[in-house]
Amino acid sequence: MLDTAVHQGKRHKLVRELADKGIDSKTVLSAIAKVPRHWFFPKDFEHYAYRDDAFPIDFGQTISQPYTVAYQSELIDVTAGEKVLEIGTGSGYQAAVLLEMGLKLYSIEYVRPLLEQAAQRLKPYKNSVKLLNGDGSRGVPKYAPFDAILVTAGAPAVANELLKQLKIGGKLVIPVGETKENQRMHRYTRMSETKFHKEVLKPFRFVPLVGKSGWDSKGS
Ligand code: SAM
Repeated sequence: MLDTAVHQGKRHKLVRELADKGIDSKTVLSAIAKVPRHWFFPKDFEHYAYRDDAFPIDFGQTISQPYTVAYQSELIDVTAGEKVLEIGTGSGYQAAVLLEMGLKLYSIEYVRPLLEQAAQRLKPYKNSVKLLNGDGSRGVPKYAPFDAILVTAGAPAVANELLKQLKIGGKLVIPVGETKENQRMHRYTRMSETKFHKEVLKPFRFVPLVGKSGWDSKGS
């Protein structure tokens, strides 16, 4: 697909907008400057790609707002080469940003056709990413421990299994809410085998996390 000077110009404008909104990490901003977000959009709608907005994708899901992607990518506080789990691959855009940050990525998506589309888009990174299909609401113990876990759907609560899959010093960044529609970003840092430091941060609106530790388990 094309990535013209016009696309690149719009992307740099978006990066400046994100910096103005408080994103500080040079690693995150330069990853966003590199990933052609329009490649993750349906062709007819690619002109929406460089607005700082979420956008609907297939199966009632969304590609997250660039600010949200940047904010979560900054909060996981990782350096190149570290091992990260993303729960909710969706379009693959957040995954591409994490891969441009030099991370070794595992990404799990519940909806198989979405994962298949994302796999096509993420082909250039295929040596650094393992894409998985299934319920990631309790993480992926087979590949744990992780330096960070980033959840891109709103959870009703934080599953203990997720916390247990962090390395000591590792971070879990997850939107948690009492309703399906509204969440607050939570960040947990594993301080020791048994101790976790919890921070409750800004409000967000994500699509719901489904599966065993998602909203399905609450019967709603
Ligand atoms: N990171 C995505 C992007 O950059 O396009 C945005 C993801 S969208 C906001 C949330 C995704 O989480 C959806 O694709 C949804 O199917 C997925 N999801 C919801 N519950 C899940 C679960 N239990 N396991 C894996 N994926 C899940």
